[in-house]
Amino acid sequence: MPDLLYRARATMLGLAAGNMLDLPAEFELVPHEPPITDIDAAELRRPWDDDLAQAFDLAESLARHRRADPRDLAARLTRWSRANGRGLGNQTAKAIALFEKGFAPLDAGRMVWEQSVGRAAGNGGVMRVAPVGLAFHDDPAALARAALDATAITHFDPRCTQGALAVAAGVAALLHGENALAAALAAIRALPRPEAELVDALASVPRKSLDDLPIRAANGIGYTVTCTAAGFWAVEQKGPLEEVLLAVVNAAGDADTNGAVAGALLGARHGIEAIPERWLERIRDRGKLEAVALKLVKR
Ligand SMILES: [Mg+2]
Repeated sequence: MPDLLYRARATMLGLAAGNMLDLPAEFELVPHEPPITDIDAAELRRPWDDDLAQAFDLAESLARHRRADPRDLAARLTRWSRANGRGLGNQTAKAIALFEKGFAPLDAGRMVWEQSVGRAAGNGGVMRVAPVGLAFHDDPAALARAALDATAITHFDPRCTQGALAVAAGVAALLHGENALAAALAAIRALPRPEAELVDALASVPRKSLDDLPIRAANGIGYTVTCTAAGFWAVEQKGPLEEVLLAVVNAAGDADTNGAVAGALLGARHGIEAIPERWLERIRDRGKLEAVALKLVKR
């Protein structure tokens, strides 16, 4: 249990660090030069960015309801978007507008997707899903259900929901010292209709360098498959958490979100001691993140 608890806390703190390292540089098209090495000290005074804020909202909701409750999560996302909404993405903004009009959350998510003619597949679901891996680390069926519901209210596309399942299953496996990528692929392949593009992207991760991933490609930035693959690329690397997470963030593109997903998986794999103290000191409300992580795994 202690090892599991260290990994759970590090999942939320790794997500936070990976999200914050790139801020406020977001969406650059060339690798960061000079490279980013630290979280901006001003982050201690700013509200959390969308990736972390939504992951925390999901974590709190899971802790309270013991499942992903679409209505509760939609209400939390709506409150957050009104309170500050820092970093709010396009698809999530559209879904929240429909929640506010009274549409059921899963209907809203589907409508946003249908309006895009089935094209919209942003990374806004995968970025917040890590707490599902904490809450259901020992219950694969509940994990799959929760990953779907927590994602589809804003990101209905199966590439998004299956990417979220991959990350949640990866986190759960890592808490038990197992391989994240194998668990993610097994979880997706067990579905009735696995998304071939996502499966191929994940299955090829062990043969790829970071430069092989379309992190800065026009059709790769903000795309859920790119972000999911970047996270699993990171967790497959042999190097220390600090080095690997900085490599992902410094590759630019949608780096704060790629960093959040990679950071959560790396935290779950390496544990809290692997996150540099100088980063931890700059994570605002660090205690709240650790507390909710512990609540979820002890559930
Ligand atoms: Mg963001």
